[in-house]
Amino acid sequence: MTEFDQIVLGAGPAGSTVARLLALNGARVLLVERYDFEAPRPGEHLSGVVRVELDRLAIPLSPFQDIASRSAGIVSRWDGSRVERTYQMSGAQDGICVVRNRFDEALYLLAIEAGVKGRCRQKIHGLGRQRGMWSGMLGNRDGMGLSIRAPLVIDATGRRAAFARSQGAQRISAGDQFALTAWLDRDTTSPDGNNLLVEECASGWWSLSCNIAGGTIATHYTSLRTLKQSKLTPRQYWDAALAQTVEVRRIVGLPVVGHFGVYPAFPAQTSSVVGTGWLAVGDAAATLDPVGGQGLVWALHTAQRALEALLADPGMEVLGPLYRDAVGDRLQRHLTGRRDVYGSVDKMHANIAERIRGG
Ligand SMILES: Cc1cc2nc3c(=O)[nH]c(=O)nc-3n(C[C@H](O)[C@H](O)[C@H](O)COP(=O)(O)OP(=O)(O)OC[C@H]3O[C@@H](n4cnc5c(N)ncnc54)[C@H](O)[C@@H]3O)c2cc1C
Repeated sequence: MTEFDQIVLGAGPAGSTVARLLALNGARVLLVERYDFEAPRPGEHLSGVVRVELDRLAIPLSPFQDIASRSAGIVSRWDGSRVERTYQMSGAQDGICVVRNRFDEALYLLAIEAGVKGRCRQKIHGLGRQRGMWSGMLGNRDGMGLSIRAPLVIDATGRRAAFARSQGAQRISAGDQFALTAWLDRDTTSPDGNNLLVEECASGWWSLSCNIAGGTIATHYTSLRTLKQSKLTPRQYWDAALAQTVEVRRIVGLPVVGHFGVYPAFPAQTSSVVGTGWLAVGDAAATLDPVGGQGLVWALHTAQRALEALLADPGMEVLGPLYRDAVGDRLQRHLTGRRDVYGSVDKMHANIAERIRGG
């Protein structure tokens, strides 16, 4: 039986960051990731606030140099008008475009460097709590490996909130927005350089990031219901929606798609983010709509909040409710801002399947 102070489930940005921070404060931390970092991950455009968060967390920028480029702002074609906004106009730092799986891997490696015991392509089976300790078996698909135990589990499994749900928490969702993301096997040239291009269309909206380590990422955000009603495959739907755009299709041209993925992208909150001997961070606590580009900042922010709370109040008896309220307040503010962006017409629910099929 190997004993740890904390078991962190999930090596996304939230999990790797909280694990690293705890290890830097002397804790024995096990970080378990069910996959690895080879497959592409969505979420490539990071707002400038990420730099502030990385700085605050004393995360060096050097590991990200080859996988990140500067983005000065966002060009949006929304409600019929074209608006260019640099981050500097709102007093923020430039944004960052990253190869997301490599970015997440770099955060994971920083955690390992800080002394975290990391295990990829593994899961913990039979995790249960007795006499103030969680225990279970760590293993890969081929079989069980190590028997482990710890007084605290941190759920950083992303929007699945796998551990919180196993403890009875529920996910409360707003809407049914899904993302259809294509990684194009070639670079594209945008007149707007590395700025993020956001364009509204009949079935939702698009985001386009060019020049990311020689690649291009084009995502269509739409309603799952509309996608189903269209009877098209996600890839056919993506093509049909691309044809409706004005600017995105001009830049993307004839798409040669490398990797294609379908992702849930609606905001959601976990009904309970702190329990006896566990807490949730990042998307596992609350998931923001990608329209705000704040997901990564949120992941890093909750990692830091969780660390501060755990150092001051390891049992979270006093700070647990405050942490829970802070998560709830943040999501509420986000939902209000989201309504302002999408306007009074809920485009994500418009029944436009027929228009899509008609091209
Ligand atoms: C289409 C899309 C576009 C986005 N675009 C942006 C963007 O441009 N900018 C931005 O800032 N944010 C963006 N986001 C949001 C951002 O990606 C997330 O908010 C962020 O990744 C959350 O980090 P996390 O660590 O909480 O969760 P995740 O990044 O989801 O990481 C969770 C990890 O847990 C692992 N895991 C799951 N279950 C288990 C288990 N049982 N055991 C072990 N490991 C497990 C997963 O494999 C994963 O590695 C986007 C999201 C989507 C879906």
